[in-house]
Amino acid sequence: MTIALAGNPNSGKTTVFNALTGMHQHVGNYPGVTVEKKEGELKYKDYEITVVDLPGTYSLTAHSIDEVVARNFVIEEKPDAVIDIIDSSNLERNLYLATQFMELGVPLVLAFNMSDIASKQGLEIDKVKLSELLGAPIVFTVATKKIGINELLDEAINLVEKKTTIRRTTPSYGKEVEEEIRKIEDLLVKDKDLIQKYPSRWLAAKLLEGDSEVIKKIKESKYSDEIIKQVEKSTAHLTNILGDTPEAIIADGRYGFISGACSEAVKRTYEVRHTTSDKIDTVLVNRILGLPIFLGVMWLVFKFTFAASAPLCDWLDAGMGWLGDKIGGLLPEGSAIQSLIVDGIIGGVGSVLSFVPIIFLLFLAMAALEDSGYMARAAFIMDKLMHKIGLHGRSFIPMLLGFGCNLPAIMATRTIEDRKDRIVTILVNPFMSCGARLPVYTLFIGAFFPKKIAGNVLFSLYLLGIVVAIIMAKIFRRFLFKGPAAPFVMELPPYRVPTIKGLLIHMWERGAVYLKKAGTIIFAGCVLVWFLSNFPWNPQYSKDYDTLIEQAQGNEELITQLNNQQTFEKLEKSYAGKLGRAIAPVFRPLGFDDWKVTVGLVGGFIAKEIVVGTLGTLHSVGEADEESESLRQALQNEIRPDGSKMYNPLVAYALMVFVLLYIPCVATIAVIKRETNSWRWPIFAAFYSTLIAWIVSFVIYQGGRFLGLG
Ligand code: GDP
Ligand code: MG
Repeated sequence: MTIALAGNPNSGKTTVFNALTGMHQHVGNYPGVTVEKKEGELKYKDYEITVVDLPGTYSLTAHSIDEVVARNFVIEEKPDAVIDIIDSSNLERNLYLATQFMELGVPLVLAFNMSDIASKQGLEIDKVKLSELLGAPIVFTVATKKIGINELLDEAINLVEKKTTIRRTTPSYGKEVEEEIRKIEDLLVKDKDLIQKYPSRWLAAKLLEGDSEVIKKIKESKYSDEIIKQVEKSTAHLTNILGDTPEAIIADGRYGFISGACSEAVKRTYEVRHTTSDKIDTVLVNRILGLPIFLGVMWLVFKFTFAASAPLCDWLDAGMGWLGDKIGGLLPEGSAIQSLIVDGIIGGVGSVLSFVPIIFLLFLAMAALEDSGYMARAAFIMDKLMHKIGLHGRSFIPMLLGFGCNLPAIMATRTIEDRKDRIVTILVNPFMSCGARLPVYTLFIGAFFPKKIAGNVLFSLYLLGIVVAIIMAKIFRRFLFKGPAAPFVMELPPYRVPTIKGLLIHMWERGAVYLKKAGTIIFAGCVLVWFLSNFPWNPQYSKDYDTLIEQAQGNEELITQLNNQQTFEKLEKSYAGKLGRAIAPVFRPLGFDDWKVTVGLVGGFIAKEIVVGTLGTLHSVGEADEESESLRQALQNEIRPDGSKMYNPLVAYALMVFVLLYIPCVATIAVIKRETNSWRWPIFAAFYSTLIAWIVSFVIYQGGRFLGLG
């Protein structure tokens, strides 16, 4: 068996080599170059072991002969194990080389040498955790005292005999670079000979780094033209949106990986990377300050989102109203086609479009936090808390995005490698109250709660969503997806100034998902809701409204009243009205067995944005949004058959809780199907969340009544 010794200069490689081989050494040359090759032999247990002392290097680029020699030996001679000698008193810098062996996928043992110096410096390394995070066994050694040398051999033998249980890992370079790597890999795998020798991911990364040796190799391939073209395209794209060369971004990815792993498993690191990033991190990732700072940042993000979007929303609203009037004027008054286009499509899709500013600005702010590197810190801080509910820090960003729209939030779970973690994160995501649910709260809080406590009521709903998500995640982890969360490094890449272009692209990527939903599913949904609430087109009325209105000429008040009565009766007799009445009894134990709100809830399955508009239509108050006083009054005056009031604050609260928790919208269900690649989870999500919604609303309503609140 052959073992290669690698490591930074002065890490103690030669000392380890001597400790292993004693006098049995000889010196030769690596083929074709003048670099000295030291080899030695030893016998250990039943193995005849050849040890090769590779040149000391900091990295494995093509920039120096030593590095090329070291990596070619590892790739071409395929030693049975590579022992990377790491100066553990200079840990982060030394691990940089190790990350590159991880990328090469070689069987790797990490010798944490100079561990005597490290412990004198007060470094405490959690060996088990760090080796899990780095995906390679770690042995503490003091080469000068021959401590840990046999253990090194044992671990190397474990690798050869495949007894090691540690799962291999490799640093991730961030979403953008990973996407480009995948594109290049797709071309590389066509050349079977090439990828037999080199891992395709490694080749792709090296091409992006502009590695001259690898480019030379690729030029020999049949597919070199396509590959080189894609590499050039990817390089230009990355440079453009990230504002730096791929080589620098990839290096950042490795440092981020190391920094994240060490922050988790090493105490009191005397970091070598005394960069600005580290200085900022002493404050932002601080044990005590980290969380409050993060909460402050989030507060600012939401403040910014709502303040900056308010005028834009108003303009859009006004614009849609104007468009409705204009187009409505061109169509025959009172016709089905006018009603469909103006009320159904422009009204419905318009109410969705009025959220575009909120959602885009929230995603813009999130992009700024992600691209600058702060989001990685936030996820790092939350990692410990997330572990308590059986999830991972990586689940955290998707949860935050959920406050905008659950669609891109669920798509953002792609960064979670572990399937169990990912599905749990997806399943609880819809409990994060998305922007589309807000108008329902605004409407009901405005109608049934005093202004003084309005903010607190709203906050309590968001909080309830988070609490339910936490409880459900814990339950899923306990019963449905057992087993501990897989260890992953939470990368801490260096901070960088985001580029405008990068921010806009990232905002657009997520926002476009929402726009697409408005253009497809919601469009179709609005037509459906319109149809259900307008047909039969000319029902059998209880009075002859047309004649009555004609007779009332001149009495505007009476005409309005008659018009409203007619609209109401039409709705009551429509398919939607019948549907609402059929389902409403289900909500009797929750206090809101009102057929109109039931129709609204059914519409909310298509998109939560539809609920308020539907209520407006059903209460025949004409154009209605969540701020309209007429709709609020109509709700306040709504009575039950026995003459008592339908709503009071308790009923309204139970209703809002139901809206918060019940079935995710159709688009979310579709995304869950796509992302989990099965029908099982979307169907499960639809049923379990509705059940949870019913139970929680029931407990709140009945509990409230028991306490005499309503
Ligand atoms: P190389 O450049 O990687 O081959 O490093 P060397 O083996 O030449 O070692 C560099 C220096 O570190 C020498 O002075 C060694 O005696 C010393 N050294 C190596 N291993 C250890 C160790 O585990 N603890 C301490 N305290 N010193 C070490
Ligand atoms: Mg040496």
